[in-house]
Amino acid sequence: MELGRREMIAGAAALAATSGSGLAQPSGRKMGYAIVGLGTYGLGVITPQFANCTMSRLAAVVSGDPEKAKRVAAEHGLPDRSVYSYANFDSIRDNPDVDIVYVCLPNSMHAEYVIRAAKAGKHVMCEKPMAVSVRECEAMIAACKAAGRKLMIGYRCHFEATNLKAIRLVRSGAIGKPHYFRSEHGFVQRDPSVWRLKRALSGGGSLMDIGIYALNAARYITGEEPIAVTAQESTDRSDPRFHEVEDQIAFTLEFPSGVIGSCHSMYSSNQNHILMVGDQGRVEMEPATRYSGNHMWTGRDGRERELIPPPGPGQTQFSAQLDHLPQCIASGREPIVSGEEGLRDMRLIEAIYRSARERQRISLAPARRG
Ligand code: NAD
Repeated sequence: MELGRREMIAGAAALAATSGSGLAQPSGRKMGYAIVGLGTYGLGVITPQFANCTMSRLAAVVSGDPEKAKRVAAEHGLPDRSVYSYANFDSIRDNPDVDIVYVCLPNSMHAEYVIRAAKAGKHVMCEKPMAVSVRECEAMIAACKAAGRKLMIGYRCHFEATNLKAIRLVRSGAIGKPHYFRSEHGFVQRDPSVWRLKRALSGGGSLMDIGIYALNAARYITGEEPIAVTAQESTDRSDPRFHEVEDQIAFTLEFPSGVIGSCHSMYSSNQNHILMVGDQGRVEMEPATRYSGNHMWTGRDGRERELIPPPGPGQTQFSAQLDHLPQCIASGREPIVSGEEGLRDMRLIEAIYRSARERQRISLAPARRG
């Protein structure tokens, strides 16, 4: 029943988000986002997506680079009072144009800025991974609860048409009884100087960055929570890129139904693949979780066909994600990817690292799906 409810919520959110109908606000006013961190993702990927949103708009920018912040603000017609530095960020509480703060900073800075945003009375969107520890995730959830504000994690694949179709196919029995899940996620990390390879900023290596897609997909495709995990790491520590964080980590997730999930995360190969095999068919996506151009093959008894579900008119996974939080704020619902969802992944990430370190299978406490 829990799974049915979850799919219904995901389906409804996706439908509302991708149809662009949403839940119109009585005032017709779009909710204002402040983007914190004008880097590759915050500025390069997210900011242009407001053009595709029906319920959201860019309302402020927060950056350590005043010139860049002013330039971006001018390009988007934002007033000077909507440009913030990290030092005066807390004064965002006095800006009525800002409803939501979107944290697009290096991982170890997520907790601080989510908590400061909640204390400033704003709802919060936070990039993945939610933080660098379970303790931080719990503090972020507590801060948002105490402030009466919503917290959503930027798990964009929950709004991506191909992944949503895969979830529906698996839940509807199209592949029969699910047997095993497999996913490889990686890219070649070439520059040894990037923050992603500094433990103090990233919290970990490929698993925190790209392997989390395999982990999160194992949970949303199966609709189950793992009961045990076993992991092995393989990293060439003499490679200057990997002095502080892991390159490859393979992990096996055991699910209550008997499904085995085999996942592989790496910073040394380009991989983007998801496979779910049942006793009567399979769903396969490659690439599976890219910004665009994801492909799916599905079928029963070896007769497979390519299926490319169209996104909603004028919508992308990013605009659907951005519009979902305003819909939740307006309707009082919890986001389908709330802080609890980020916390679940972080609990698993800690167990995966522990399993690799101690070279043993880690049993997990049963987790309720919400
Ligand atoms: P980036 O390096 O391109 O940008 C990081 C931003 O943080 C920059 O504006 C930088 O100036 C700022 N910053 C502030 N203090 C910093 C410090 N001490 N060191 C380095 N940068 C600092 O990184 P990115 O690729 O934009 O990633 C930002 C976040 O977004 C990460 O949490 C990442 O996991 C996430 N992300 C998510 C997706 C996705 O598809 N959901 C894709 C890429 C990145």
